[in-house]
Amino acid sequence: MSVQHLLERADLLCKQRGVRFTPTRRNVFTLIAGYQGAVSAYDLLDRLKELEPNAKPPTVYRALDFLLAQGFIHKVESLNAFLFCEHFDEHHPMQLLICNQCGLVIELHDEAINNAFERQAQQNGFVITNQSIEAHGRCRQCESAAPR
Ligand SMILES: [Zn+2]
Ligand SMILES: [Zn+2]
Repeated sequence: MSVQHLLERADLLCKQRGVRFTPTRRNVFTLIAGYQGAVSAYDLLDRLKELEPNAKPPTVYRALDFLLAQGFIHKVESLNAFLFCEHFDEHHPMQLLICNQCGLVIELHDEAINNAFERQAQQNGFVITNQSIEAHGRCRQCESAAPR
């Protein structure tokens, strides 16, 4: 899906929600959408400075907070990095597979995993307010290239 098309979808959602999709927010959205894997706030800041020379760390963090709140991106907790989400129209369960070698991040949407997790939490009288289910390893390509 082209970044242009994603931007249009995001624009529409922001209008429906009555939130402002400012130029900086759009720029950060576009930058993250262009990455294959996850990207750190500092890498984003470097790229953003090419577009907005006055950009500072808080500029990026505020934009990231907005994009997270709108569901346009996910935070990859174990990498302290951010991942674009193409399925931002719908609320969805999420698990991540992260390749340690090439940085590929595969987003899974298995409802059963989240339900099982939720059930276990309930049995322990625990209320989950936010969660991340992330696994590290090697992707198919890196695994087949690995020496035996
Ligand atoms: Zn997602
Ligand atoms: Zn890999």
